[in-house]
Amino acid sequence: MKFRELALYLKKLEKTSSRNEITSILADLFSKCSEGEIKNITYLVLGQLAPKYRGVVLNIAERMMLRIISRAYGEPLDKVRSLYKTGGDLGDAAESLAERSGSAKKDGSPTTTEVFEELLEIADEEGAGSQERKVERMSKLLTSLDALSVRFVARIPVGRLRLGFSDMTVLDALSFVVSGDKSSRKAVEEAFNVRADAGAIAELIKEKGLKGIGGLDPTCGVPIRPSLAERLPSAEKILEKVGKKVAVEPKYDGFRTQVHVFKQNGQKKVMLFSRNLENTTEMFPDIVEEVKKLKVGEAIFDAEAIAYDKKSGKLFSFQETVRRKRKHEIDTAVVNFPLKLFIFDILYKDSKSLLNTPFSERRKILEQTVKGKGVSGGIELTRLDVVDKAEDIRDLIKKYLSEGLEGAIIKKMDAVYKAGGRGYHWVKYKKTTEEGVADTIDCLVMGAYKGRGRRAGFGVGAFLAGVLDKGVFKTVSKIGTGLSDEQWRQLNTKISKITLDKKPKVFEVDKNLEPDIWVSPSLVVEILSDEITKSPIHKASLALRFPRLIRFRDDKTPEQVTTLEELKKLFEMQKSSS
Ligand code: ATP
Repeated sequence: MKFRELALYLKKLEKTSSRNEITSILADLFSKCSEGEIKNITYLVLGQLAPKYRGVVLNIAERMMLRIISRAYGEPLDKVRSLYKTGGDLGDAAESLAERSGSAKKDGSPTTTEVFEELLEIADEEGAGSQERKVERMSKLLTSLDALSVRFVARIPVGRLRLGFSDMTVLDALSFVVSGDKSSRKAVEEAFNVRADAGAIAELIKEKGLKGIGGLDPTCGVPIRPSLAERLPSAEKILEKVGKKVAVEPKYDGFRTQVHVFKQNGQKKVMLFSRNLENTTEMFPDIVEEVKKLKVGEAIFDAEAIAYDKKSGKLFSFQETVRRKRKHEIDTAVVNFPLKLFIFDILYKDSKSLLNTPFSERRKILEQTVKGKGVSGGIELTRLDVVDKAEDIRDLIKKYLSEGLEGAIIKKMDAVYKAGGRGYHWVKYKKTTEEGVADTIDCLVMGAYKGRGRRAGFGVGAFLAGVLDKGVFKTVSKIGTGLSDEQWRQLNTKISKITLDKKPKVFEVDKNLEPDIWVSPSLVVEILSDEITKSPIHKASLALRFPRLIRFRDDKTPEQVTTLEELKKLFEMQKSSS
């Protein structure tokens, strides 16, 4: 497929915000392209050059992109900059210059594969003189394209190709490709849960249809979408729903870390992935070292990493652990905040998937794999107690809370590992479970109100928070208290980077609640509230009483905030427990 043809699809995608329409445009595109192209086209429509976990980026910032456009069309940098400032979009600016310069090729335009491969090579450029080579190659690439293609290619480096849909819409479209409707969506998602690489799944489907993804096994180096926990209001309800006999594990408050150990070119290789499927291997070299000591050939573990004091063994709080989330000065962070890995599950071992093996058996395999197999201070097998009385669950929770832990996770003994799913196979039980709202609520920051009085110094004095309901964000709280001075400052900085001129289409806000500043849907916060109440003004029809900001959830995307359905469940739960 010529890139020009792909650009026409991108133009159509850009024009619509209807998920159904996007799905049908994508399905048409996937049907038209060839087996050899679908993988790269999938990444491109998602604004990527590879699955996110591979972290392939062009490393071309806005300023450099302006230079590239200036070089491509022989226009002074100032002119390009002012064109960009007027229109607000680099792609549009580049497109108009391409049109005017007449350099845009109408014939012999490159194929999607040629453009994709060139972009990958540009991303790979490193070392001395790489900046200049990137400018040169990128401007040459632009001049080889027609004006419409230029619009989209110029947006890729600065992360602006995002067309407002995620992997999930791509999965919808793939279902249409195999069966002409949504009936294969579940099968496609199941495959994606096991191998979270939309491009690879698209390729398998294109090659072999549903057969290509049936009974797909995990593969080392490709993250599995993590299993998530449900909430229940009491220990009694847990025994009723999860099983007469359950496993109780401490809930550590750190980073979810999926650990892949395997051999590559005869060498032991370790890769780490976050809850959000980001590759965190470089960030946590201390974990990598510890895992390398394990006498295991090939395995995928599920674990939580938390900072600790090497001398006393005491675990640090999340606020301290979070300091390890950094891309620079990693060496110092490793010394000040070493991480300990608590392994709680095994999903794959020696070429065998364990996803469908019952938890009690997986735990046995985990113990055989880890116990006495080179585990030193930085790795621990998560404690586990099997109990059958509500009293015992409560005692364990009390014990964990007194140790400074976050609570417990109660697990169903015979459950398979539900990749990518939230369910009653795991139930989280925190301090607040039996007191008020059973869980904290992850909200999207939708806008902000300017601060008055003392708060004026922080810029922002209150913010609007919302939950997700079928693709739209509905307000649930206006939060003006419960933040420390430091949190206000952080909020202000974060908001200043995502400010918008007008309300995004996906926000539902009552007229009387409209904020001074709108923001793009990107910032997720975790909120603790005393009670969920009915609300006539919030679009969610529910509101949070006495909300407090627990933390910024940079590890969560807007699609991962609490859904209205979940919020309603939490509301019902509080009624049933009071
Ligand atoms: P969720 O993952 O449910 O969307 P969340 O990211 O806010 O919500 P929590 O609600 O705090 O996380 O609880 C689930 C998380 O608890 C897991 O994702 C994992 O990181 C962590 N965790 C800590 N200890 C355990 C354990 N023993 N078993 C499973 N998960 C654990």
